[in-house]
Amino acid sequence: MNIYYSDSHLLHAPPFEIFDGGEKIPTFEVPERAERILAALKADPRFSIHPPEDFGLAPILAIHDADYLDFLRSAFDEWQTEPTDYAKTALIPATFPPGGWRRKPRGLLGKAGYYVMDLAAPITAGTYPAALGAANCAISGAKQILASSPTARGQGVRVPSAFALCRPPGHHAGRANCGGYCYINNAAVAANWLSAHGKVALLDIDYHAGNGTQDIFYERADVLSISIHADPDFEYPYFAGYADETGAGAGAGFHRNFPLPLGADDSVYQKALDQALELIQNFAPKFLVISAGMDIYGEDPLGKIRVTASGIEQIGAKIAALGLPTLVVMEGGYNNDALGTNVVNFLGAFL
Ligand SMILES: [Zn+2]
Repeated sequence: MNIYYSDSHLLHAPPFEIFDGGEKIPTFEVPERAERILAALKADPRFSIHPPEDFGLAPILAIHDADYLDFLRSAFDEWQTEPTDYAKTALIPATFPPGGWRRKPRGLLGKAGYYVMDLAAPITAGTYPAALGAANCAISGAKQILASSPTARGQGVRVPSAFALCRPPGHHAGRANCGGYCYINNAAVAANWLSAHGKVALLDIDYHAGNGTQDIFYERADVLSISIHADPDFEYPYFAGYADETGAGAGAGFHRNFPLPLGADDSVYQKALDQALELIQNFAPKFLVISAGMDIYGEDPLGKIRVTASGIEQIGAKIAALGLPTLVVMEGGYNNDALGTNVVNFLGAFL
């Protein structure tokens, strides 16, 4: 399996985030995450590591607002010119518009509150190039599964699959917002890029609801988006990911959420997954994109459900059994000791 990895992710290493309760903590979303996964993949001869191609901004601007992307590009430098007396290493806004307030201020801190949804998406000097590198990894993987998808697949020909080792992750980034460690929605960029060549299903298995992906595809019928996650009634991102959010306009019926209860185990998870996979089969997509968060793992420091390591393997096996050209995109997962093994076991199902 081809793995797409860019060391530009190392440019993004926020020194802290603000956790619930206002606690300033070392961020969970660290470069070590991707390096651990890379090491585990390198140690396994079934995987070959490739740098991404540079696709420019067009495929990113196809799903993200130009003003938002421009903010992401320029915010850190603009912040350096603001007259403040604190050290400027990680831009985190402190003021957010309440529901319905959509006035966009000109000043930097106001714009930050406008585009950043929470205190867990610090913008540092290297955030923008790192996010671009991650998006290029996702598109490179998409390009590979497209190129190796024969129109009439012969007997015994392997169904194509690829893995984009994206960091920073992407699924909380909406059309015009970052949040939850995510800046550019890598999986959504890839899914949209593939949608020019046929219908796409995007299945998000990260522990947290993929609110950004939901936002981006909510009114589209050519991309079926499905997210299985901790119930937002008790878990981040709180304001999206509910079962009754099923798409709107032309996209009505083409988004589905499967919120899971606190402490959900393998059997509860597999039941939701079976329903999601049935929806995908009925949709009959040409391509499948997986937002693969490993924070569903029971020992994850940010997760409150109890999927086991063998449960993760089983999830991979069931998804692979769909027999669709599949791009797996890395999202969350914060148990660094288990991350490499869980990713390798998950991807192994596709080989
Ligand atoms: Zn997550």
